[in-house]
Parts: sequence; structure tokens; C-alpha cells
Amino acid sequence: MKMDVSNLLTSHMCQNARMKRALAALVLVASAGVVAQPKVDVAAALKTVAPDLDQRLARFKQVRMPYNSGALSQRERAMVDQLVIALRELENIYWRQSDPEALALYNALESDKTPLAQKLRRYLFINGSRFDLVDGNKPFVGTTPMPPGHALYPAGLTRADIEAYVARNPTRKPAIYNPYTVVSRTGPNDADLSGEWYHSKFVEFLRPAAAALRKAADLSDDAAFASFLRLRADALLTDDYYNSDIAWIDLKNPKFDVIYAPYETYLDDLLGVKTSYGAALLIRNESESQKLALYERYVPDIQDALPLAPEDRPSVRGHATPMEVMDAPLRAGDLRHGYQAVADNLPNDPRIHQQKGTKKIFFKNFMDARVNEVILPLAAKVMDPAQAKQASADGYMASTLMHEICHGLGPAFARVGGKQTDIREAMGGLFGGIEEAKADVVGMHALKWLVDRNALPKARLEEYYASYVAGIFRTVRFGTGEAHGRAEMMEFNYLSEQGAIVNAAGRYRVDYAKMPPALAALAKELLEQEATGNRARAEAWFAKYDRMPTALTNVLAAAKDVPIDVDPIFSFAEPVR
Ligand SMILES: [Zn+2]
Repeated sequence: MKMDVSNLLTSHMCQNARMKRALAALVLVASAGVVAQPKVDVAAALKTVAPDLDQRLARFKQVRMPYNSGALSQRERAMVDQLVIALRELENIYWRQSDPEALALYNALESDKTPLAQKLRRYLFINGSRFDLVDGNKPFVGTTPMPPGHALYPAGLTRADIEAYVARNPTRKPAIYNPYTVVSRTGPNDADLSGEWYHSKFVEFLRPAAAALRKAADLSDDAAFASFLRLRADALLTDDYYNSDIAWIDLKNPKFDVIYAPYETYLDDLLGVKTSYGAALLIRNESESQKLALYERYVPDIQDALPLAPEDRPSVRGHATPMEVMDAPLRAGDLRHGYQAVADNLPNDPRIHQQKGTKKIFFKNFMDARVNEVILPLAAKVMDPAQAKQASADGYMASTLMHEICHGLGPAFARVGGKQTDIREAMGGLFGGIEEAKADVVGMHALKWLVDRNALPKARLEEYYASYVAGIFRTVRFGTGEAHGRAEMMEFNYLSEQGAIVNAAGRYRVDYAKMPPALAALAKELLEQEATGNRARAEAWFAKYDRMPTALTNVLAAAKDVPIDVDPIFSFAEPVR
């Protein structure tokens, strides 16, 4: 029997820690066995594998991601080993949020050494599910369509069902819309909806995860990092991440760091609120980190200069905007599967955005892999040859850097009916796409702003634009089933409509003069969509610009032998149970 979580939420809001612990213990008993894996028929599954699996696999170039343990002390290596244990536990949880059937199949296939079984296994791991990100999330094994809320909601439940239910039962809304609960049907005839805390649902993995974080803390020579790890261990078991997020933002140029929490909502296309667990082990890249100091100086001025009403751009002056360029020798959960992020901007909690700002992490080893294996080879095939040569790893680094900075800029809340509302909630499932587009476009607009103030050399502006557009060609190949792809398809279509990107003789060319006004206008549009929380306006905008033009389809088809992304091979094994 599952316990309704609304009582737990009340105790959470009262900050009554003892009560909360007592209730958590009750739920622990009640939910024993919930993580049992579904049964799978391997032979039947293998008969339904997409016939072009080889081509799909070839789109992911395997790239080694070395872990240079020789550069670390014995104590540091022991700490890293504990962090690796902790990362693996979040990986176990992620599959249960994403697609428990895929996990059961993945594990059942381990003993089948036929080539088809092993290839299917690898593709399940790449996607973290049976659904192909590159193919609009259609299943590549079996016929079950992807549930928009993955395994975070009961099968078949729609947004309209939820809205109707909470209209009748408003006291249940906090539990159902909570970022850290799994929704299920309960009560007589399954007529009710309840939310169960992640820290209860996934306790089997979170307990050992917290223990490993604490052991790592004991082995750390960095008192602030150790303190953060202990707070994060506590947060795993309460779903209250606030204090540990503050401690994480306050770390000063740490040599070791982790991303380690349920942060992103990419698995939730139903309400756009449920987080999935993701993690990265991070070791500082000192020389690259120092190059970022220049950008950090200008962040508050960029916010003040945005094309947006003053009341919608809260000052970020005096806020911490720490940035770290790190190598990631292991990642897990939503940072491991599907799209391989080269940067991140966290946490997502709007209270922390307002009080502290955010922290930007750049994964240097992943960025190098992407530029070398995907972006430059692709640009050479689809762009005007002279412009393709202008695209560069440095230009891409600059646009990526500004993208991440600009996630933290713009409005902190939407104004809906004169009231402050969470932008994420106002926009629903479309939020991810809007926010990624805002970060891209405001970022490019801000680069021009820096050039205009001589903070960056004027001579590099074309390199930035060429690298940004080269990056779009990479992203739209993912399709529009994912937030970044949806965003950049819209950007491409809008910039083409404005004449800033033109198709000439089967190749794309940037009109460098038309880029700045087009980007400025698009930045204004996206910032206003967020500030007004106007979902209808945003839906109409994205619907207008969401189709891939035939000419682009053709150019990309001619470049189909260029990998779509990298598939990292880490030095650490990646067991999933
Ligand atoms: Zn982003």
C-alpha cells in the first residue's frame, strides 16, 4: 500500500524534521519491493528491433574519456573511488525514472552474447530507454510509444486528467506537482492520484549513495567540499536540496567537484516539473578555468542591458556566478544518456537564482570530443567552405559559455495575472525548449554586446557566428523530440526567415550583417514569452518555426556519415542493477 505524500509535504513545509523522519520510515516499509524489475521476453524483444540498428549505432562515435589517476594522490584516488560508487547509485535510479522496461531488457541481454543482443544493449544504454532521441523518441525495440511523463506518472495519465483531478482535489496539488515525487493511482478503483517522495521510492539506492558521499567527505582535504558532500548526502534522504545547493554554489574554485542531484526536468513532458537524477564527477582544468574570468566580470552588465522591461530583469549584481571548466571522467543518469551535454548551469531552483545566481560547469573533455568528432566535420559538409573554416573550437567554447551564462539571466519569475509564477510551471512541457532557445539567442546577443564594448576582439565576431550556426546543424540532427533540438530548429527557421542564414547552391551561408538585428529581435521575443508566462504565445511561436525545411533535410542527408554525437567510454565500469 502506498502512502499519500500530501502529509509528508505538510511536514516538510513546517520544517518539522523529526516528524518527517518518522514518516519517511513508515513509507520505507510501505514501499519495500517497489523497485522490482519488470519481466522481459528477450527472444520476443529481439524480433522487434529496428532493422537499421547498425546505422543508428554508427551515429555515435565512441570516444575514450581518460581518467588521469597518476596526477592524484592516493587519498584523492580513494575519494574519487567513493564518488564513483555514489554516481553508480544515481544511475540505478535514473533508469527507473526513465524506462524500467528498458533496464530489465538491458540486464536480461547481458548473458546473450549474439551480436544483435549486444548491439541492442549498447543502444539501450546510449538512450537510457527504448526510445530513440534521434528518431523523435519512437521505440527502436518493441512498439510501445514513449509515455510523455516516462515512468514518473502512471501509464496513460494525461495532463488534462491531472488538471481535472487537482481542480476537484486542490489539497493534492502540491504532492502531485512536486519536483521530487512519483505520481501513482491510489484509492478505491484507482480513482485518486498521489505523489510519493523520491527519498522514499528510491531509498534502496539513496541510502548507499549517501553513505558513499559521506566516505568521500571524510577523504577530502577541502573542508568546504566535504561539508557540501555531507549536506548533499542529507538532501538525498529528505528531498530538500536547498542548503546543499547553497553550499555547492559557494565552493571556490574546487579541484574536485560533483554534479549530483535530481535537477533537470527533461524526462517530464507531461507537467514539466519532475526532476530526474543526474551526476558527474569533475576534476578542475586549471588553465581553461582562468580564461573565463573575463566573461564573469561582465555578467551583471549584460543582464541590465537585456531587451526587457526593467521589472522583469532582476539585478544579478553582487551575485555569485561561479564557473568551472572541468574534465568529467565519469557521468551518470541524465548526464550520461542521450544528448551529451558539454556544459551545465545549476541548480534550477528559482529561489537560489534570485539569492545567489547559478553555477556554470563546462565539461572540457566533452566539448573537445564534440567539436573534433562532430561539429567541424559537419560544418565542412553543409556550410559555405570559407565560413566552415571560420568555425572553431574557441568560437564554440565562447557561444557555449554565453549560453550557460544566459540560462541565469532574464526574468526569474513569470508575471501571470499580476502574480509571480514559476516560469517552468507557466510554460508546462514547452518550458525546456523555450529556456534552451533563450540561452542560445540571448547568449549570441550578449557576445555581440561584449564585442561592441571591446571586451572581445571585433575580428572574432564572424568566428562566433560561424561556430554558433555550425553548432545548430549538429543539434537539429537530433530531431525536435528533445528540448535543445526543438529550440535550435526554431532558431534556424527564424534566422532563415530574417535572411541571416541563406541557402546558396546547396550549402548554408551566414549573412554576418543580418545576424545581429535578427538575434536581438528573437532575444526580445523569447525573454517576453518567459516574463509574461504566456503559454499560448510560446506554443504559437514554436509551432510556426518547428518544421525542418526540405533543403536542410537534403543537406543533412548528404552528411549522414558524420556522427551525431559521441558515446563516451570511461575508465570506470558502468554497472547497472
Ligand atoms: Zn542549456
